[in-house]
Amino acid sequence: MGPGPSTVPARVLKALGSPTMGHLDPDYIEIMDECCGMLRKVFRTTNALTFPVSATGMAGMEAIASNLVERGDEVIVCINGVFGGRMKDIMERCGATVHTVEAEWGDVISGEALGEALESHPESRLVTIVHAETSTGVHQPLEEISRMVHDAGMLLVVDAVTSLGGHPVNVDDWEIDAIFSGTQKCLSCPPGLSPISFSERALEVMDARQSKVQSWYFDVSMLRDYYSGSGARAYHHTAPINMVYGLREGLAMVLEEGLEERFERHRVVHERLRNGLEELGISYIPESSLHTLNCVTIPDGVEDGAVRSRLLSEYSIEIGAGLGPFAGKAWRIGLMGHAATRRNVDLLLAALGEVME
Ligand SMILES: *Cc1c(COP(=O)(O)O)cnc(C)c1O
Repeated sequence: MGPGPSTVPARVLKALGSPTMGHLDPDYIEIMDECCGMLRKVFRTTNALTFPVSATGMAGMEAIASNLVERGDEVIVCINGVFGGRMKDIMERCGATVHTVEAEWGDVISGEALGEALESHPESRLVTIVHAETSTGVHQPLEEISRMVHDAGMLLVVDAVTSLGGHPVNVDDWEIDAIFSGTQKCLSCPPGLSPISFSERALEVMDARQSKVQSWYFDVSMLRDYYSGSGARAYHHTAPINMVYGLREGLAMVLEEGLEERFERHRVVHERLRNGLEELGISYIPESSLHTLNCVTIPDGVEDGAVRSRLLSEYSIEIGAGLGPFAGKAWRIGLMGHAATRRNVDLLLAALGEVME
């Protein structure tokens, strides 16, 4: 019940242990295609280029930055927590000139602040924003932001690591141009893959590049044929076969439950946790809170480390510490995927009451 990894169901663990095939074996290609098809459903997109990058969520961030940006490009990065800050760092390493739109930790990025940046930096190629900021628990609305970004003729890049599989992520409806997630948050698989998706507009930007992508591993122009089903399946790197088995099983569980039913489950357990915490005198930090990550204030006089270590040693419950300005002041309680259950909420509330006493 921390900020990830979340609990992995037995079905996924069993799939991970299936016999390893060759990554060009037609049977494996079929499994991989099926996995990409399910990712499209979960992202709610028809984007042909939708696949799992062979590394954790940060690799999705790095893959998008290195493919969409060339040295000297201007970009706008929204920062209201740790992950927006990381995007700025990666963009700068890719040679971009970064303009930031900032909000206080715990606040959403406002349309007003973004509007000013779009006006001041009209040459920017893209805008990046975090849909679910795991460091603060903020749930960022995207529809208005998307309209503004496209009216300004830029691409919209979204970090959906802690929302995919827990909150609606409507890639096509919201016209998101590049998006990445991770397997170990609301998809309830082990860490190791980063699902990403690129729109047609993003592909055009990549096709018009003047320079080679500086990262060999993440150069999507070399991975495109392998993943987008053109039939030309050549060796680039050895796919993490067993991880893909695991992801396919995890996605099958998401789709069997139904996306709407799954979002509703996350909402209901979040409300239950919120009510219980408020009875214990614990309040939420963000006004616009995620259901999947609950960032709450530690009450006065309660020792952060002592409570978390007793929850872990006496109840086998892990919750997350605060980061940055929230260190020692906040707890981050994950209700992600398989771990988002009434049973977990009630056990945590009982244990927390007992330990705080
Ligand atoms: C966890 C997370 C990441 C990074 O994912 P890793 O799997 O740790 O590499 C990126 N962005 C957000 C919002 C996250 O919560």
